Amino acid sequence: MSAPSTALPSSSVPDATWASAHDSLVETVRDLIRIPSVNPPPPDAPDGETRVARYLADRLTALGLEPEVVEPVPGRGSVHVRLRGDGTGGPPLLLLSHLDVVPAPAERWTHDPFAAEITDGYVYGRGAVDMKAMVALELAVVERLVTDARAAGADPARDSVPGLRRDVLFTCTADEEAGGDAGARWIAANRPDWLLAAGALNEAGGVSVTIGGRRLYPIQVAEKGFAPFRIRVSGTWGHGSMPRDDNAAVLAAHAIERLSRPGPIRLTPVMTRFLDDAAAALPPEIAAVLHRVAAGDADADRAIDALCEPVYAHALRALIRDTMSVGVITSGVKYNVIPGDAVIELDCRVLPGVSAADILAMVEERIGPDLLPACTIEAMHWGEPVESPAEGPLYELLCATLIDHDPEAVPLPVMTPFATDAKSTVPLGVPTYGFSPFRLAPDERFLDRFHGVDERISLEALRFGLPVLYDVVRRFCG
Ligand SMILES: [Zn+2]
Repeated sequence: MSAPSTALPSSSVPDATWASAHDSLVETVRDLIRIPSVNPPPPDAPDGETRVARYLADRLTALGLEPEVVEPVPGRGSVHVRLRGDGTGGPPLLLLSHLDVVPAPAERWTHDPFAAEITDGYVYGRGAVDMKAMVALELAVVERLVTDARAAGADPARDSVPGLRRDVLFTCTADEEAGGDAGARWIAANRPDWLLAAGALNEAGGVSVTIGGRRLYPIQVAEKGFAPFRIRVSGTWGHGSMPRDDNAAVLAAHAIERLSRPGPIRLTPVMTRFLDDAAAALPPEIAAVLHRVAAGDADADRAIDALCEPVYAHALRALIRDTMSVGVITSGVKYNVIPGDAVIELDCRVLPGVSAADILAMVEERIGPDLLPACTIEAMHWGEPVESPAEGPLYELLCATLIDHDPEAVPLPVMTPFATDAKSTVPLGVPTYGFSPFRLAPDERFLDRFHGVDERISLEALRFGLPVLYDVVRRFCG
């Protein structure tokens, strides 16, 4: 069961209007889920992202707007439209989202991942939380603004929307789930006008988490960087009947054991503030643990494990250190052949302040001087960690609007352990906030839903989010 919504109606929009906008929002989420836009694109549906982009473009065209679709790679479409303000309020506000989803192994789901069935108040489907619900929410806000404009006698394709002093950008990208080369990174390089703004609202934050009876809304202001490495381990080929120490699989196993130990704790300013703000809101026994973590207590991991659900414990432990996770190991050709080489693929995620050279040095140090001569380390990618200010007019407006709609809300800044399209917007100077304003029932484990089996979003979460996002846009741009 979901908790009943207590969303306050927005000042300028009647309740009945929100009720019909909600119904339309739910149908949009379902339409989007029913267009599989899996990344990497499978051979039998290579153009899912373009199909979703065109669906949105058709919706925007039907509103009388003039959207653009780009397709830097065939089938990998992104879509954009701009609503005009009168220009007196400064640079635009960007509503940012991505169109692609990760694969869904249908045999493990209780519902068809691309049928968008509604059961017990939830819409089921791949992308329900990551992130087609937010695409639909942002579209619904654009629709509402267009309706407002027409009601005031304006043509939103030509005129400014009455009451908007800034433009509103609606940009939905392909390829977020694979780094954005065919999406946000391409757009940043080729169509920066789709992204340049005073601030951006994106996925991965603003969703309620109930802990100790309090409803926290962590707003994403930072995200870790990523640095995957391919490590080739060299040994000596031989006969399995005569074991030897330079068996490459054994050397790789030693290296993996060293790489897998949790690294030292390092608190960044954002995580210190997250822990302090959470401690201030939560019961004393939980606050005491958070203070220990914030102080860098050597036993912090055990305290976190005792305190949190596993999914949150894993996230929190990952947010207070640089992490290394082994994803792939390959070695060997036959049981009686000692392998002469092995390959490890290692996923490193780094805190703000750590460079590509820094993390390479950490990997080498972990492997150690005795094993390092057998290893050749190749950097596969590098994604810079990014941060936006957890202060200033937009951040403060996000917090205030949440509290207006949920008086028990405790907004606080947070970092995410994973990457989003903020990797492409923050370097353009666009402060980017994970803010998908969904109020969830206390027992929901939202983080488990990301890329998870039976991904779903509750109708109540959608009902809460729409007036919140509309008010943020009206207030920031008004
Ligand atoms: Zn996502």
